[in-house]
Amino acid sequence: MSDVTVIGLGAMGAALTQSLLMAGHRVTVWNRSAERAKPLVERGAVQASDVQQAVAASPVIVVCVLDYEASHSILEEAGGLLAGKVLVQLSTGSPLDARDGERWAKAHGADYLDGALLATPSQIGRPDTPIFLSGAESAYRKAEPVLKAMGGGLMYRGAEPGAAAAWDIAALSCMFGAMFGFFHGVRVCEAEGLSVETFGDMMGRISPVIGEMIRSQGKAIAAEDYGNPESSMEICAGSGTLFLRQAHEAGIGSEFPTFADGLFRRAMAAGLGEEKLAAMIKVLRSRGATE
Ligand code: NAP
Repeated sequence: MSDVTVIGLGAMGAALTQSLLMAGHRVTVWNRSAERAKPLVERGAVQASDVQQAVAASPVIVVCVLDYEASHSILEEAGGLLAGKVLVQLSTGSPLDARDGERWAKAHGADYLDGALLATPSQIGRPDTPIFLSGAESAYRKAEPVLKAMGGGLMYRGAEPGAAAAWDIAALSCMFGAMFGFFHGVRVCEAEGLSVETFGDMMGRISPVIGEMIRSQGKAIAAEDYGNPESSMEICAGSGTLFLRQAHEAGIGSEFPTFADGLFRRAMAAGLGEEKLAAMIKVLRSRGATE
């Protein structure tokens, strides 16, 4: 028996396997394209000849393939062998995917954990690598020793299986939102002949201030406290107008300014001008209600 089986040896599955081997775990691997197992076998992994053998080999089965559809097509062939095991799904998906995954695993007698990796393959296995996990706590405890080898920053998000995927999507939307703003900022710098590298360095340095802003918006929304703003929605909305005007003046793309200005305009039209920026959530909530 191995300690853990890894199904899926793409860039991420290979990195996960490598971190498990480095931590001294006995690992069985399987991948649709068998040749991808070769470098891992050279480092000590055992290659299963088929999915059934892979599932039978370990008490903890980690799956990391393209998506849930791919995962389902693989596991369907070995569902009968999953009873009594912990299935850890690390392929990226939605909360609904995770809930369906748990239902399927339970129907086959397996415990289920759903996880989201907040890291690139080269960041796997570090003491602070963040991984969100959700599902039955008993399953988490059983899988914890192998999961720890993949990332020291395990964050168990509770029994609701969709929680890890929801945290992942929420965190990614915050990250990519910032990135799109950054890329527009790069175009502003380029239009004015400023150093893009210096701009990146500066934003990295002041990122704790942005972190503070995010934390304070979260607190205001949680408390539904939108009054007495230091910087009102109306003042912030001026930035949206300015983004658009500058983009037109400089002849650069206006995708990000149009998006930001559009939301500010809706906030102003909704009468939120004297409230905190956090009141933007009311605009997004009203959109959800009308779609
Ligand atoms: P990848 O390098 O493209 O590998 C994809 C894996 O999925 C391969 O093992 C591939 O098998 C398998 N696969 C795809 N379609 C399949 C099918 N229909 N049937 C069976 N196997 C199939 O992707 P990756 O970077 O390893 O990503 C894997 C998961 O990790 C994804 O859900 C991704 O979102 C998540 N993730 C990745 C990163 C990252 O930075 N790479 C970060 C966080 C999360 P073959 O080798 O046979 O093609």
